[in-house]
Amino acid sequence: MDYEDKRSKLVESLKKRAFLTKPSVIKAMLKVPRHKFLPKGAIESAYIDSPLSIGIGQTISAPHMNAMMCELLELTEGEKVLEIGTGSGYHAALCAELVAPDYSKNPGHVYTIERHKELADKAEESLINTGYGDIVTVICGDGTLGYPQEAPFHKILVTASSPKKVPPPLKKQLKNGGILCIPAGSKEWGQDLYIISKKENKFDSKRVTGVRFVPLIGEWGFPE
Ligand code: SAM
Repeated sequence: MDYEDKRSKLVESLKKRAFLTKPSVIKAMLKVPRHKFLPKGAIESAYIDSPLSIGIGQTISAPHMNAMMCELLELTEGEKVLEIGTGSGYHAALCAELVAPDYSKNPGHVYTIERHKELADKAEESLINTGYGDIVTVICGDGTLGYPQEAPFHKILVTASSPKKVPPPLKKQLKNGGILCIPAGSKEWGQDLYIISKKENKFDSKRVTGVRFVPLIGEWGFPE
């Protein structure tokens, strides 16, 4: 079975388990080649629904988590997205497919921040090699500070677990009418995924489910 067949099989199983329902997200998950974002030793496991190691103690999330977060964010064409925690760059590529499916017509953009330079450089290379170089900007730095030079963002997703108090710069940099998707809680266990929407500078927060992510380390995150 080639990678495309394996990817289709994975998507079918995510649909059956109701992690994938939106046609736009299904299309993006069918298109983005997860195996091209992985280190050599993990490539053969690319289409198993599991988190995988990407080096220096970090992981790429399980595909069902990518699917769930993309659906919750309601990403649509033309939006400006901020991702905190680039990791492999795979989730940023999925977001790129959703906000800029036809880049020439409706240029949405994804800004993604990674604190480890080694991962940021590798992710940038993978994004360029898979054709997302013009739609995704990779930044190396502390994502808990957001990216004020491009704010406000329609959508913000955080792919590492924040302390219970969500970093204030991220709330500030979210556009009115925007959605922030963030895991928060303790550094290891007892984390929950939240969807926070902003309307007229007021925030409405909803818990979605229990999750387990690597910690968000930084000025408004956990200490190293
Ligand atoms: N979204 C990624 C992907 O598609 O591969 C997976 C992200 S991984 C679960 C979480 C990432 O967040 C790690 O690479 C980690 O180094 C990064 N991270 C943790 N704290 C950070 C911070 N303050 N700013 C930027 N990146 C951070």
